[in-house]
Amino acid sequence: MNLDDLPIRDDLRGLSPYGAPQIDVPVRLNTNENPYGPSASLVTDLAEAVRHGAAELNRYPDRDALALRADLADYLGHGLTAERVWAANGSNEVIQQILQAFGGPGRCAMGFEPSYSMHSIIAGGTSTEWIPALREEDFGIDPDKAVAAIAEHRPDVVFLTSPNNPTGTALDPAVIARIAEAAPGMVVVDEAYFEFARTGTPSALTLLPGNPRLIVTRTMSKAFAMAGTRLGYLAAHPAVVEALLLVRLPYHLSTLTQTAARVALTHREELLGTVDMLRDERDATVAWLRDLGLKVADSDANFVLFGTFADRHAVWAELLERGVLIREVGPPGWLRVSIGTAEEMAAFRAVLEGIL
Ligand SMILES: *Cc1c(COP(=O)(O)O)cnc(C)c1O
Repeated sequence: MNLDDLPIRDDLRGLSPYGAPQIDVPVRLNTNENPYGPSASLVTDLAEAVRHGAAELNRYPDRDALALRADLADYLGHGLTAERVWAANGSNEVIQQILQAFGGPGRCAMGFEPSYSMHSIIAGGTSTEWIPALREEDFGIDPDKAVAAIAEHRPDVVFLTSPNNPTGTALDPAVIARIAEAAPGMVVVDEAYFEFARTGTPSALTLLPGNPRLIVTRTMSKAFAMAGTRLGYLAAHPAVVEALLLVRLPYHLSTLTQTAARVALTHREELLGTVDMLRDERDATVAWLRDLGLKVADSDANFVLFGTFADRHAVWAELLERGVLIREVGPPGWLRVSIGTAEEMAAFRAVLEGIL
């Protein structure tokens, strides 16, 4: 028997699962993780906190994760409080809950591509129709065209990724504000990479007052160097959080997850201390790739999209052959490299130069 023989939903037939390769090679620059692991003191604090939490694992966790949400609100600033913040197992689960509450059968969601593939994949999983709109040549969004597309399709949910994955493009808050004004439903700004944006780039959090249907999502997977913890969160109007309570599974965030995330937040200075190094390394990578004569997208994230190659798969495979894993993603001909440590980037440069 194979998958096709099972009585699965017709709208899932023929789909492919999300599948960034997880290959054990010396230099892994393909899923935008922070290359710096936790310090010894953070590991000690995490282990100690988990030891305490372990003694209560016979009990369900705090269903509403109130202490963690208060800590996240404190981190975000902008006058936010726990009632305006919601958390789940990665921002992917946050996005799923948003689509469960505001999308679903008979409803549609729109995104501006190229962008993060999980938005359309989660739309598919929640039976929300996906409407792809297009970004411009420079990977920005033309607000007039966006407003026209919204008027035509009347999406229930609009996704804006800023800085965008896989292009690195940050959106001007004025563009987000125009889209929020035009959208009849919810507008989600996915700010997974916000901490990496160039200094002075405003967050969409500044638009929350006055935009009650706006949701800003964040994650501890990237700048916070906690991808393994699985902790994503959002800021929105308290009524939005109430809507998500209707669809979340009870006790969705384990005691251990809540504990680890809270400890990580107390170490935020250390964890975010790597961001400046990664931003410098990113800017150097952009300059180096441009010196090679390649096309490179401006990046406000911890990765760089570059190209174009007549056979990008061949370049990707040859890098992998020599121990450097990057990502084959984006428009045809482009490749994306996550920013690693100085040593990892030196290896990437040496290998790529050899190939070219
Ligand atoms: C990596 C990434 C996420 C993070 O997902 P988590 O589930 O929090 O690990 C969210 N949005 C975008 C655009 C990403 O690239």
